[in-house]
Amino acid sequence: MSDTAYETNLQTIADAASRKEEENDHFMRSLRHHDAALLDEMAHRVYEDVNDAIDCTACGNCCKTLVVNITQPEIERLAVFMNMPEEALRDKYIEESLAGNCFINSIPCHFLSGTSCSIYTERFTECRDFPHLHKPGFRERFLGTLLHYGSCPIIYNTVEQMKKELKFIE
Ligand code: SF4
Ligand code: SF4
Repeated sequence: MSDTAYETNLQTIADAASRKEEENDHFMRSLRHHDAALLDEMAHRVYEDVNDAIDCTACGNCCKTLVVNITQPEIERLAVFMNMPEEALRDKYIEESLAGNCFINSIPCHFLSGTSCSIYTERFTECRDFPHLHKPGFRERFLGTLLHYGSCPIIYNTVEQMKKELKFIE
């Protein structure tokens, strides 16, 4: 773990995101001049460092803002975990689209308690994967990453650290 002091104040991050819109746009365009594999390597390393330093249970901001898609096996597991019949669980917590996709029917998520997840061991793949910075394709997915730059401290700090390492900013 590094001793870098990362920004975790959500208001400060939201303000910085408004201020840096144009900068981030330029940064996104500058990424095309870097090798995709090297960017992935850097993103994964920086993300791991930031992720180790930031306590998601003291934040929970993504659980207040994201639509969380869930799969049928996840619904079944949750019904067992909560000791509820699946139908009752669906009625209370789940919405299904016309295309048959299921998602949690409230934002913030029903299962957020304070700033942490009350079903943490059973949280869904989408929750575990967010903010997706451990995945390949940092450059190609950067526009999607930017959507949460102003609301997720892990994304904000990872992107800012990468700007420094790529000498985009001093
Ligand atoms: S299930 Fe838990 S981790 Fe996922 S959005 Fe809800 S509160 Fe957050
Ligand atoms: S993933 Fe980002 S927004 Fe979600 S709890 Fe962690 S730091 Fe907060």
